[in-house]
Amino acid sequence: MKTINLDHVAASPILPEVADAMIPFLREKYGNPSSIYSLGEEITEALEEARDNVANLINAHEDEIIFTSGGTESNNWAVKGVVQANRSRGNHLITSSIEHFSTMHAVRSLENQGIVVTWLPVDKYGMVNPDDVEKAITPQTALISVMHANNEIGSIEPIAEIGQIARKYKLPFHTDAVATAGVIPVDVEALNVDLLSLSASPFYGPLGVGALYIRRGTKISPFMDGGRQERGFRAGTENVLGIVGMGKAAEIASTEMSARIAQLMPLRERLIREITAEIEEVALVGHPTQRLPGNASFVVRYIEGESMLLFLDMDGIQVASGSACISMSLKASHVLLAMGIDHGTAQGSLLLTLGIENTDEDVNHLLRILPPIIQKLRDMSPLYKKMTKVKTAG
Ligand code: PMP
Repeated sequence: MKTINLDHVAASPILPEVADAMIPFLREKYGNPSSIYSLGEEITEALEEARDNVANLINAHEDEIIFTSGGTESNNWAVKGVVQANRSRGNHLITSSIEHFSTMHAVRSLENQGIVVTWLPVDKYGMVNPDDVEKAITPQTALISVMHANNEIGSIEPIAEIGQIARKYKLPFHTDAVATAGVIPVDVEALNVDLLSLSASPFYGPLGVGALYIRRGTKISPFMDGGRQERGFRAGTENVLGIVGMGKAAEIASTEMSARIAQLMPLRERLIREITAEIEEVALVGHPTQRLPGNASFVVRYIEGESMLLFLDMDGIQVASGSACISMSLKASHVLLAMGIDHGTAQGSLLLTLGIENTDEDVNHLLRILPPIIQKLRDMSPLYKKMTKVKTAG
């Protein structure tokens, strides 16, 4: 059975060119960049080329890119490292209520240590209002962190505007751009950000590697103690294989981004149009236009997202429900709850994230098998039966 990946938020396939670039570093070029003999030098050069490519992708300088183990580390480091380095400035942090767990839980751990946190609300589309950011600023504010786009609902936040406010008050501003960097244009100058997290997988690089952009002059404490790798910013032997893959993927993403967006948008629009037209009691979640090109996120009333996920998996279709990272739990997504969706409805989250290997035929296949799956599950749902009875009676 052919499997269809409609869960690119969890993992995207590595491009063949990316794998080809990585293979020599798995075989003959297996060495440590810190070694002073020539192999070490050759590997250092490969790391610097990758750094250059990642810097170009987001319009940064090479020395502002520090490689990490992915978005989670970058978000943890940005949030904890800036607050720690700016303790003299104050003990207040502003973030949104829809951040990825890697930011949200990092902020919670700071909150447990006595940092005062403003959790910004979002509107029904999951959008943060820049005015709320400005109103939340106090003389004690040490950091603002708001994600660029939300991975579950696809909404793209007004980061440039929030960045302007941060500039006005001379406050460090971090954004989690894991869902956007390499996917849509991301420019650290246009966005007015001081720190930006990215991960390689969303632009068809390997899993488990990412970077943190740190604007020159930004005060941040190192995340780990150890050696002097990454100019003393990030201790630990570099993930050479991953970094080389990320660099190649960034280079390709820079040139192919607009073609990819043009390919994904019509597929996304078809999913949105046909799913909301063909299936009753289904609603699109997230912003209708300000959204990631491959994101089609819904709530399907009267059933649980996990059941849809398992039935679709039996037909070879991989999807997510709520956050891909919490699919093993039956908790409703904090993102959907923050948007004002009730707990029961939020349980029916269906998250489809497209990638460049998806075809019209993949979408056709999903559109063929999804309605009967939903009907079957609803036929077993007491809530749905009650609802249809009320409808017929009315
Ligand atoms: N932020 C966002 C918006 C994400 O989508 C993810 C991954 N799902 C992360 C952070 C965490 O990134 P990583 O998996 O690379 O640690």
